[in-house]
Amino acid sequence: MVRTVAIVGGGVAGIAAAVRAAESGWRPVLIETRTKLGGRATSFDDVRSGLELDNCQHVVMGCCTNILDLYERLGVLDAFDWHETLFFARGGGAVDALTVGRLPAPLHYAASFARMKLFSLAEKVAIARAFHAILRMGPKGRVRWSGRDFAAFLRSCRQPARVIELFWDPVVLSACNLSSARCEATHALKVFDEGMLAHRFAGVVGTARVPLARLYEAAARIIAKAGGEIRLRTSAKALAFDGTRITGVVCDDGVVTAQACISAVPPDRLTRLCSDALRAQDRRLMGIDSFTFSPILGVHIAVRRRVMQTANLALPGRATHWLFAHEMHENAGFPQRLEAVVSAADDWIGLTEAETIARVSADVSWAIPDFRREDILWSRPVLEKRATFASVPGVDAIRPRARAEAGDLRGGVANLFLAGEWTDNGWPSTMEGAARSGYAAAAAMTGGVGVVADLPPAVLVRFARALSR
Ligand SMILES: Cc1cc2nc3c(=O)[nH]c(=O)nc-3n(C[C@H](O)[C@H](O)[C@H](O)COP(=O)(O)OP(=O)(O)OC[C@H]3O[C@@H](n4cnc5c(N)ncnc54)[C@H](O)[C@@H]3O)c2cc1C
Repeated sequence: MVRTVAIVGGGVAGIAAAVRAAESGWRPVLIETRTKLGGRATSFDDVRSGLELDNCQHVVMGCCTNILDLYERLGVLDAFDWHETLFFARGGGAVDALTVGRLPAPLHYAASFARMKLFSLAEKVAIARAFHAILRMGPKGRVRWSGRDFAAFLRSCRQPARVIELFWDPVVLSACNLSSARCEATHALKVFDEGMLAHRFAGVVGTARVPLARLYEAAARIIAKAGGEIRLRTSAKALAFDGTRITGVVCDDGVVTAQACISAVPPDRLTRLCSDALRAQDRRLMGIDSFTFSPILGVHIAVRRRVMQTANLALPGRATHWLFAHEMHENAGFPQRLEAVVSAADDWIGLTEAETIARVSADVSWAIPDFRREDILWSRPVLEKRATFASVPGVDAIRPRARAEAGDLRGGVANLFLAGEWTDNGWPSTMEGAARSGYAAAAAMTGGVGVVADLPPAVLVRFARALSR
């Protein structure tokens, strides 16, 4: 008999879980309150411009093996542009390029890093010292920094304040959405180790050429083939719990009866779905009220003429952290659309749209002197107040596992599986973490294939770690 799984939440985690459940012969019913799939990584129809815009520029990296696997299953890997070079603005139109060179990992960025003018020789030596420490400690050594902030690690490697502001913080802010001073050290260390050192492809950045919501279109076909369905515009109101097991999901349009349930909603949403009786029975749900969140601001700017010459541009030391350029089709009516990204955007909450655009424009002008406010045809800021769970020190202690602990009375409800980027998947709040969590939850339920392996560390990386043991 085909078994039904009710999956609550049609973000990346829910989609990943549904695809894997379908492949394992389960019948997934994916319940999503909004009109489109994708959750925090999706698109909306912008009435002002008439375009389908993403809520914010999203990037993937070569080390994100699970979200890339999901894109492959959905047949959309060729909808991505891959960028081996990241550009760093120095102001006044000057730009440094950090690019993958000919040397093997972990030295693949060494030549272009040596050429960067943003840092003095002494500052480069300091950065290299910290990278050496990260390389040597590897994933095992990272554990001893658990529960501390990344700034403590940087202090231990004697990093100058300017280097923290212009090198470490821009990367940590964009990957973990918190500054070094606030970010869990192991999360930031993982980004630099696995994203920049371990493998030549790890740090290569992918950006979608199509609106994010289009990436998920094939999910409907995969789910339907397994006899399942996607229920958009359907809100889950409660997980139906009979004292021992989940029997289904109560929705605003009826009950979805199921043999298992995968929750793929953020923790603040899951809280609302759980009765006191359910929470009392499942230790995993104890910490879900303790998560805090960090905002991200994305600003779409359509320009009358082409002003940005590189596909990406970091703005170290500025309030706006990254710019991305999207070339438009001839019939769009304008040649280029910029997407500005402000991570950990707490200071921007409460600004008017005019104030927001004025601030971003000042930063764009700093980086690209040729840009003028008058170049803006239209702009569209999107502030996500709960963009990511906050990767604060100690957060991993409250991230729950996908599966209930067997043999423990309050270890959990056996047919309730937890997914979502905030669950215990080893990653900060990213699409990769979400895809991993979805795969892990589906595997815990089906007994099938789980998380896709990481990129294997390069030979020299393994050698350096072995030597330092
Ligand atoms: C502005 C911004 C920029 C980002 N940039 C990047 C980036 O560049 N790279 C990267 O890897 N990550 C980025 N992230 C993080 C990434 O988007 C998230 O970590 C990831 O998408 C989370 O996926 P999820 O499926 O776990 O959760 P969500 O995407 O939150 O999915 C949960 C889904 O559940 C639905 N839902 C909630 N309650 C109910 C209910 N009661 N009934 C039915 N449905 C419900 C929601 O509508 C949502 O669709 C960014 C996030 C934001 C907001």
